[in-house]
Amino acid sequence: MPLTHEPALRWAWVEIHQGALRRNVRAFKQLLGPRQRLCCAVKADAYGHGAVASAKIMHATGADMFAVATVAEGIELREGGIVAPILVLAEPPITAIEHILAYDLMPAIYTSEFALAFGEYAVHAGKVGKYHLAIDTGMNRIGVHHTEALEFRRSIDFHRGIVCDGVFTHFATADEPDGWDYKLQCRRFEEVIAALKDAGFDCGLVHCDNTAASILDASTHFDMVRAGIGLYGLQPCGLTAQKIQLDPVMSVHARITRVVNPAMGEGVSYNYTYRVPRARVQLCTLPLGYGDGLARVLSNRMDVLFQGQRVRQVGNICMDQCMMAIQETSARQMPTAEIGDYVTIIGRDGDAEITLDEHAQMRGTINYEVACDFGMRLEKVYR
Ligand SMILES: *Cc1c(COP(=O)(O)O)cnc(C)c1O
Repeated sequence: MPLTHEPALRWAWVEIHQGALRRNVRAFKQLLGPRQRLCCAVKADAYGHGAVASAKIMHATGADMFAVATVAEGIELREGGIVAPILVLAEPPITAIEHILAYDLMPAIYTSEFALAFGEYAVHAGKVGKYHLAIDTGMNRIGVHHTEALEFRRSIDFHRGIVCDGVFTHFATADEPDGWDYKLQCRRFEEVIAALKDAGFDCGLVHCDNTAASILDASTHFDMVRAGIGLYGLQPCGLTAQKIQLDPVMSVHARITRVVNPAMGEGVSYNYTYRVPRARVQLCTLPLGYGDGLARVLSNRMDVLFQGQRVRQVGNICMDQCMMAIQETSARQMPTAEIGDYVTIIGRDGDAEITLDEHAQMRGTINYEVACDFGMRLEKVYR
């Protein structure tokens, strides 16, 4: 598996498959009606996939808006040349307002202190600050409580320095769209929107769906959906996997930096949690570790792919390196490893595949976190 784009500086890297990203964006566009928009969540460096590079590909494939978690993430997109609208998914501190206006970002708003400070600053700057009104319909994370939304809007609407570009909420249980909790959030949101419209307020873009809801419940698409995980080819839950085919965008690769044949009984890595069980084991070193997203809890539990076959990772995973053992048992004849040979950490090699979901399951977490972690330090190669 020779690679044409591998990085010069390190024998471990993430590959981002642009074709897969484009196919996933198109798959989401197909879920939507002609007037419904696609907002792509690119927070946390696009779930570890590289925010600016991913956003450029998404925008060229039809993304209408981008959602980030922080003002700094919005600034990074603007400095990277992204011109589409950018929504900050939580209300930033008042001290960030200057930058929000300078970089033309749209904050989520849910306190009158922020709303009025935003408006004042905008008037002074000769601008009008666009915002999205966040409604808490039950998740109890951010937003104006759904019973207070109308009054809140009334209390800030006089300000000529701000204009409402959208109203949104976020589901806590979109992976169970038949459940009572999801349905209650939907009903509360619909009631808020109806009340705002009845009172004559312009709601701008109404939106609430994340990936799971976008796929599982077309009745809540409203004017826009906010998709994240699915764009990266990962399923938020089992139900969505039955409904839509998505292509994984990220794979993780390394090359072997050292091969040795330790004597039987030799210990491997910190604390010798693994001892070489027999003669003729090929112990190989890989130049990535928990500082790169290979969680230490996976030590002695995870596999990697070598020449189309699963091989066990052995010994404690270090911050920057880990080891794998070839020919651990005499049961099957394995190919001989050499320095420079390619190993797949996440991805496909021949008929074998290791997914981010496999790591997530072993770690007791969700694929979202595993993807973010691999984005931390490894260089990303776009191909
Ligand atoms: C992260 C996030 C999304 C995207 O969620 P996915 O499950 O990744 O599709 C949408 N809305 C908000 C408010 C978010 O924080």
